[in-house]
Amino acid sequence: PHVIEFEKIKELQRSYDKVDLSKVSTFADLPLSDHTLNGLKDNSFTHPTEIQKASLLYSLQGNDILGAAKTGSGKTLAFLIPVLESLYCQRWTRLDGLGALILTPTRELALQIFETLKKVGKNHGFSAGLIIGGKDLKFETKRIDQCNIVIGTPGRILQHMNENPLFDCVTMKILVLDEADRCLDMGFERDMNCIIENLPPERQTLLFSATQTKSVKDLVRLSLRNPMYVSVHEHA
Ligand code: ADP
Ligand code: MG
Repeated sequence: PHVIEFEKIKELQRSYDKVDLSKVSTFADLPLSDHTLNGLKDNSFTHPTEIQKASLLYSLQGNDILGAAKTGSGKTLAFLIPVLESLYCQRWTRLDGLGALILTPTRELALQIFETLKKVGKNHGFSAGLIIGGKDLKFETKRIDQCNIVIGTPGRILQHMNENPLFDCVTMKILVLDEADRCLDMGFERDMNCIIENLPPERQTLLFSATQTKSVKDLVRLSLRNPMYVSVHEHA
């Protein structure tokens, strides 16, 4: 079974460069693992939204992404799918530690992302955790080192980075900044910059927000490498 899975992953990765985006209509037209495709199907996600269609191939290829699309356009799956696929292709296991870190400005948004991840990612064996405060710090502290995917708010993540020796980011491969513009509006710029400084420079960064503001670009300058700008506007 290991050999077969290895071949499947190789085949997936070979198809990233061959897909004709103009012929992509359903998620099944994209080179995605069976685990992810089944997770999408079981939750009645059949057709990618515009921002998903516009960004997924590039994020799957490993590019840094600066994505902008209005609220409600499906940005969550636009970053959760490449997170799952990247860890899958790297044959990440529960024992491999933190693979992906997802930052979002509010607890509510973190919870929503967590719920979507549980549904769509259920066929993968990854462990996921919420680091959002409001819970016992000790409870979060003990479990954080067992999480492959951590979803959190910037203030609380930084607190763990500073105070919790079990929160080790050296293995992290993908950073997601969700609602980066709101993170900045809410005064998280300093926290976000501190977090980013503590992360391995060899990583993929996916940044999604409703607008591409100048300050988002400032933040991006600190962290992204040859980012691909993907914008979807209502009447584009
Ligand atoms: P955003 O982060 O851009 O505000 P969300 O990711 O929260 O948007 O998605 C908004 C809504 O659209 C959610 O209810 C989500 O379940 C739904 N949605 C996302 N992608 C799809 C899709 N491909 N097909 C159908 N519904 C989708
Ligand atoms: Mg969102």
